[in-house]
Amino acid sequence: MSSQPATSAPTALDLTLDGGALTAQLVDFPSVSGDEQALADAVEAALRTLPHLTVDRYGNNVVARTDFGRAERVLLAGHLDTVPIADNLPSRVEGDLLWGCGTTDMKSGVAVQLRLAATLTDANRDLTFVFYDCEEIDAARNGLGHLAAQHPDWLAADFAVLLEPSGAMVEGGCQGTVRAKVTLTGTRAHAARSWLGDNAIHQAAVVLGRLADYQPRRVEIDGLEYREGLNAVRIEGGVAGNVIPDECVVTVNFRYAPDRSEAEAAAHVREVFQGFQVEVTDSAPGALPGLAQPAAQAFLAATGGSARAKYGWTDVARFSALGVPAVNYGPGDPNLAHKRDEHCSLSAIAECERRLRDWLTAGR
Ligand SMILES: [Zn+2]
Repeated sequence: MSSQPATSAPTALDLTLDGGALTAQLVDFPSVSGDEQALADAVEAALRTLPHLTVDRYGNNVVARTDFGRAERVLLAGHLDTVPIADNLPSRVEGDLLWGCGTTDMKSGVAVQLRLAATLTDANRDLTFVFYDCEEIDAARNGLGHLAAQHPDWLAADFAVLLEPSGAMVEGGCQGTVRAKVTLTGTRAHAARSWLGDNAIHQAAVVLGRLADYQPRRVEIDGLEYREGLNAVRIEGGVAGNVIPDECVVTVNFRYAPDRSEAEAAAHVREVFQGFQVEVTDSAPGALPGLAQPAAQAFLAATGGSARAKYGWTDVARFSALGVPAVNYGPGDPNLAHKRDEHCSLSAIAECERRLRDWLTAGR
């Protein structure tokens, strides 16, 4: 049992605080996935006081937009939820570090969004700020997915930045993934008379041989290198200790560069395992980094010019599916996300805000 602190959680957000102090306020608003309403209410209330923004809400998702009449629109997105609290609230400051659940993933990024929303009253691009719920749990509940399905017009933009922790490096696009079952069939028989059967597990040797010989591509897209991989991730087979097995299933996972579509990636897996029964069981598309876009080029220059490919799947793919190129760029260290000792550097929060502000005010 842990006792409640005497001071209760805040009830409102103060967008005049600096990014670090605002992050602390956001962290002290507990918002474990599924329990974001109080924080979404506070975000909505704070944004509604700003006359240069139009604010919409769907569930616990809040979207605020400017209408400056600029040629380009940039979208800045962040999730409001955190993983379960691990005795690491309320937040505390030690030197340059802010400690607590969500400091890195990703209330520091949300604080930067809110600071920019409050202060960029005359930006060089139109701005859309998206705050969504349920990112840390199963994809079906993801608030950004719900917005994309119900209000895709709210997400229209030329370029999107997801302020997930990236150690202040630009992480472009993301890889896609295909999982497939390669099923081998044989003939069941008594192990004492094995010549009467056909061993399905032995046939897996051919499948595993193809995997061992497979030469994964390294693809450069917009200057970022994506490394593909095709791997067995599971193998199932066997009936009993005295039976020649008549079935063996090798599950493979193909992580692919975003220059392939989902359909092309699935076709590639079928081609590698030509002659075998292949069933795709799970698939998610990749996302192109879109770094050739003018808004993205200016963004890269403002953030120091270096970018790396994003491995794994992130919500940037949801933007890509809507035709909006997207990158991850946020102040937190991704290696500290979801940890009991999660913390974020206050100077990194300030630096991220400064760079985004420079990008969005240049020439004004
Ligand atoms: Zn996150």
